[in-house]
Amino acid sequence: MDARPPFKNEPFTDFSVPANAQAFREALARVEGRLGQAGPCVIGGERVTTKATIASTNPADPEQVIGVFPDAGVAEADRAIAAATAAFPAWSKTTFEERAAYLFEMADRVRKDKHLWSAWMVKEVGKNWAEADGDTAEAIDFLEYYAREALRYAKGLPVIDSGDKNSCFYIPLGVGAVIAPWNFPFAILCGTVVSAIVAGNTVVMKPAEESPTVAWQLMQLFEDVGLPHGVVNFLTGNGEVCGARLVQHPDTRFISFTGSKAVGLWIAEQATKRTPDQRWIKRVVAEMGGKDAMVIDDVKDLDDAADATIAAAYGFQGQKCSACSRAIVVEAVYDKFVDKLVERAAKLQMGDPADPTTPYGPVISKDAYDKTLAYIDIGAKEGKVVHGGKAPDRPGWFVEPTIVRDVAPDARLAREEVFGPVLAVIKARDWDHALEIANDTEYGLTGGFYTDSEDRVQEGISCFHVGNLYVNRKCTGALVGAQPFGGYRMSGTCSKAGGPDYLSHFLQIKSVCRRR
Ligand code: NAD
Repeated sequence: MDARPPFKNEPFTDFSVPANAQAFREALARVEGRLGQAGPCVIGGERVTTKATIASTNPADPEQVIGVFPDAGVAEADRAIAAATAAFPAWSKTTFEERAAYLFEMADRVRKDKHLWSAWMVKEVGKNWAEADGDTAEAIDFLEYYAREALRYAKGLPVIDSGDKNSCFYIPLGVGAVIAPWNFPFAILCGTVVSAIVAGNTVVMKPAEESPTVAWQLMQLFEDVGLPHGVVNFLTGNGEVCGARLVQHPDTRFISFTGSKAVGLWIAEQATKRTPDQRWIKRVVAEMGGKDAMVIDDVKDLDDAADATIAAAYGFQGQKCSACSRAIVVEAVYDKFVDKLVERAAKLQMGDPADPTTPYGPVISKDAYDKTLAYIDIGAKEGKVVHGGKAPDRPGWFVEPTIVRDVAPDARLAREEVFGPVLAVIKARDWDHALEIANDTEYGLTGGFYTDSEDRVQEGISCFHVGNLYVNRKCTGALVGAQPFGGYRMSGTCSKAGGPDYLSHFLQIKSVCRRR
């Protein structure tokens, strides 16, 4: 019998408590003292370096190097898959309980030093304190939740006897490539790796080029809790080179990918191609982008709706797959609502997110900065920029929170994922028209709506076609165990991270019938 209490979400830190703020400042200072160091890849427990390197930099101060890591190529990818393959037989024979124990231990260790994890994210990807704290809390949640889930999956499946004695249980798949984005550099990487290994698989963990240092902290945590060598192998480098090789390798049994639509679709296509020596159909979990909408009906409390829309549009500078990038507003309150959005966007204090008084930070990179500005140019032609639209003259990849009104439902700004702080506001004739526009997208990740009508609440719940729907609140901030996360259509395979079905993606089922 497991004596652990039921799963509960990790609480967020209240930074208005002076001691908490002081602890966070101290964590930032500790990270400052460790910037610019070189880290290795880890393959079968061995530290591996390459001549060529990649460096991550602080998006608020691109001159500041955060970490330098190997630019792993095909040879390192092959070695990593070989190490994971070698480690699989022994790891796959451990019990769910033994594997869950590593996750519980990791959660305890992260909790003890949580601000240090968050401080790395402030520096490497430009999260503000609260966003970084939320990322760390989610990583802890994934560890605690998937460990408990493993204990549940250990019980197998209920089957009836048929004269013979029958049983049905879960076994792991094999070697997986876990390929992650930079925007939740701890939570997503941690969640996708530990869900795969707690199921008994071995993996190659490939973080995004932008966030190798946060990933290296995680790799060191796997080492610190004594995970056997080769269960998690750590590969940094260019996704199109080492990532692509992991996907195409004949010994890769599954790919757990989170990232853009373009790369996810490419991976899905590659996975269907059988290579010589390949003995399985590769399984793909691909969680991809969004063009998420908040639908605003003629509600009494427009202020609440505007607060929620702004929070969803500009939290972490719009760099969340769940971020609101379309506000679809009924004609009756359209002008009033746009004014409220502008009023609130004007209050977002832009600056280095290491400073808690300037929580609105930069976008991740020069590429993201160029892409965001290019979309603002497109938006200026397709609608009217009523707030922001410019990049301030200062170092760092800063772009103002931007609102473009009067965007047509079929405009590029209403259709394509920017993944930055650009909100397209679209006018709808009425509630039905607003829902129609909201659904008229190739994506289907998150969405939210505000309405005072119970009939419309019910209609929205049944007709708004997204994986994660929010009623009378913002469309970001899914909680592990409470709102399993993942989208439909071109947003991905709807694997529902943080939900009770999730581990099944990394397991297969064996049915045994015994006569004597
Ligand atoms: P990306 O697709 O550019 O990169 C994601 C990962 O894929 C990185 O590790 C990268 O190195 C790797 N990669 C790139 N090309 C590859 C290839 N050919 N083969 C194998 N791996 C390859 O995405 P990003 O910029 O890191 O992240 C932003 C995107 O992620 C956005 O579209 C966002 O909506 C999406 N996202 C989705 C979710 C979700 O749960 N649905 C969560 C977070 C982010």
